[in-house]
Amino acid sequence: MARRPLVAANWKMNGLKASIAELEKIIAGARSLAAVDLVVCPPATLIASFAAKAQGTRIAIGGQDCHAEAAGAYTGDISAEMLRDAGAAVVIVGHSERRRYHGETDAAVRAKAIAARRAGLLAIVCIGETRAERDGGHTRDVLRRQLDGSLPDDGEAIAIAYEPVWAIGTGLTPTRDDVGETHAFIRARLASRFAETGRNARILYGGSVKPGNAKGLLTAQDVDGALVGGASLDADQFLAIASVYRSS
Ligand code: PEP
Repeated sequence: MARRPLVAANWKMNGLKASIAELEKIIAGARSLAAVDLVVCPPATLIASFAAKAQGTRIAIGGQDCHAEAAGAYTGDISAEMLRDAGAAVVIVGHSERRRYHGETDAAVRAKAIAARRAGLLAIVCIGETRAERDGGHTRDVLRRQLDGSLPDDGEAIAIAYEPVWAIGTGLTPTRDDVGETHAFIRARLASRFAETGRNARILYGGSVKPGNAKGLLTAQDVDGALVGGASLDADQFLAIASVYRSS
């Protein structure tokens, strides 16, 4: 089965009600991008209004995190069921900013990915090495550990986002060959653990993807799309990145 490319926008803690204008531009531009699945993950405050606006279009709306439980005494948290209820179809889990600033472990990320599936959401599970881990030659060990610890046992309803932490928001990226080799490594791990399911799971690259470097990075081996941070706040840049897949 051919994997359909997926390009997801991670708006992080950016966006107010007026940002719906940017979503409208993305919706309009998406009409000519039939070969790629497009997701916009705004802050939680905007999910319901964005989902209403995107209904019936080619854009799916996603959350940036969820709690593992469906409901309960967890002040400030949002469950996967609540995201679904607000109109989301996708949720990012285990982003390096969540791992770093909120101390999320692989086990916590795995519980969130399981919750996403329970609620009927696709979980985009983020993994990636820090600069120190890369410089120390530990990239594959880190990715192996994160893949082993962060994914549900059946590997269903997930996409992986490989995001080298040192590439996020820095303008730095691995080389195209590096990305291809790392994605092939991730693919092999997924396939050996989940067989067909692992071969069909999409592996996105994330970290300073911009219109100028998207073609090289997103056509590397085993790259099935992108998770885009900064550049996704501008509809034109986000659409330019996704249009790498215009004719595929
Ligand atoms: C991200 O945080 O998921 C990301 C990829 O950010 P940026 O594109 O800004 O590097």
